[in-house]
Amino acid sequence: MKFVILDVYPSKKHRLIKDTAGGYGTGNDFGNSFFSKLLNLYVDNNIGMPAIEIMIISSILKEKHEVHYTRDATDKEIKNCDYIILPSSIIAHETEVETLSKLENNKIFVTGIFATTMRDKYLTKNSIVVKNEADTFFFNLNKSDKINKNFLDKIFLDPDLMNDFYSPVSLDDFPFPDWGSYSKIYPLRNNFFNLKEKIAIPILGTRGCPYSCFFYCTYPLQQGRKVRARSVDNIIDEIKFWKKKLGTSKFVFRDPVFSINRKHTIDFCNKVIEQKLDISFMVETHLNNLDDEMIGLLSKAGLELVYVGVESSSHVVLKDMQRFTVEHDKQYKVIKKCEDAGIKVKTMFIIGNPEDTEDTIIQSIEYSKYLPSLYSQFSVFTPYPGTPVYNDYKDLITEKKLENFNQYNLTFKHNNLTEKRISELKSKAYFKFYFNFKKVFQILNYFFQSKYGF
Ligand code: SF4
Repeated sequence: MKFVILDVYPSKKHRLIKDTAGGYGTGNDFGNSFFSKLLNLYVDNNIGMPAIEIMIISSILKEKHEVHYTRDATDKEIKNCDYIILPSSIIAHETEVETLSKLENNKIFVTGIFATTMRDKYLTKNSIVVKNEADTFFFNLNKSDKINKNFLDKIFLDPDLMNDFYSPVSLDDFPFPDWGSYSKIYPLRNNFFNLKEKIAIPILGTRGCPYSCFFYCTYPLQQGRKVRARSVDNIIDEIKFWKKKLGTSKFVFRDPVFSINRKHTIDFCNKVIEQKLDISFMVETHLNNLDDEMIGLLSKAGLELVYVGVESSSHVVLKDMQRFTVEHDKQYKVIKKCEDAGIKVKTMFIIGNPEDTEDTIIQSIEYSKYLPSLYSQFSVFTPYPGTPVYNDYKDLITEKKLENFNQYNLTFKHNNLTEKRISELKSKAYFKFYFNFKKVFQILNYFFQSKYGF
């Protein structure tokens, strides 16, 4: 059989990625000022990847079938395929639904957690939604003797037949994502660290996050609150595989909270060091998971960039978000230790939180400049459909288009701030953080060191 993965995106002048925000996706729209537009362009040209899940599905199906990946809804392969798989997201929602409505002659599996949440919006007379982690469904289906046209056509008549294929799968059992084929056609890049390497391989060590901020976050929706880890040996095997196959030693870990399992992380670092894998990688984690021992070990293993959530400098705002965090002086010390150990830090702030005022946002911007991190990110609080917090906001939503729920726009009526003011404050945050002589010098210095080693 022949499957076409049709991964559609709206046309935008900023970066769109479906893998982030727990599979809902994000779009880095830094604002409308001249400086923000330059940043939009820069980031769009320097970061690119599809959802890992869809690339795992591609590898699963390729064991027995033909699979073609495209972002073009007019791709000629669509006419000749047996089934289409369409990955869903919030950031491309209207485009995906419009594409579905035009695919009258194909049977379509819609995947991704956003379609699970908004199932009705993705159902047409010839589409079905694969719920939750769709790689699990295709793995079980592919292992059965039922993956044939006769049975799949029956599924479209009776979707309850799908229920036999959702039983949990060990993450070690999945094949490695199909990056080999993807990277021949589309760039797989992250030019914010290790500029010597062109290809940055997205890699997953764990799924799931148990932290208290789940009430506004989409990751636990997608992956659950229980942490599931791949074995360290399986992750190491994947690293060796891509080093050999694509000649790259640059890896982007997509775990919601890398180093959440201390023993697993120590074991991973020790094996990378012992086996002299000579890699560089980036992760996202919680500051509380970084102590002196962990920072030293991660640095030795090749950690070059770490994203940490700070969210706000205001305790009132953080308490309201149920965001557990560490005290300001500890945040400073941990970030400084990372930077001193050669690990670049990107702090992540959220503005437009329910309790934010103009003053708390200005304080957060100043605090971002005080912290010794190389990079900083300022997104906007977003009550996502499907998350527990959405119930409190559903009557306050002002944004009509779901594609604009990209984590960079105010989508609801805020008590203290207008949409326009949030947009201005977002642009101001980026301008103040990045547009100063010291920061430009630090970044250029890092880029030269990273590319040329001096
Ligand atoms: S730490 Fe909080 S924000 Fe981060 S993935 Fe977990 S629940 Fe989401």
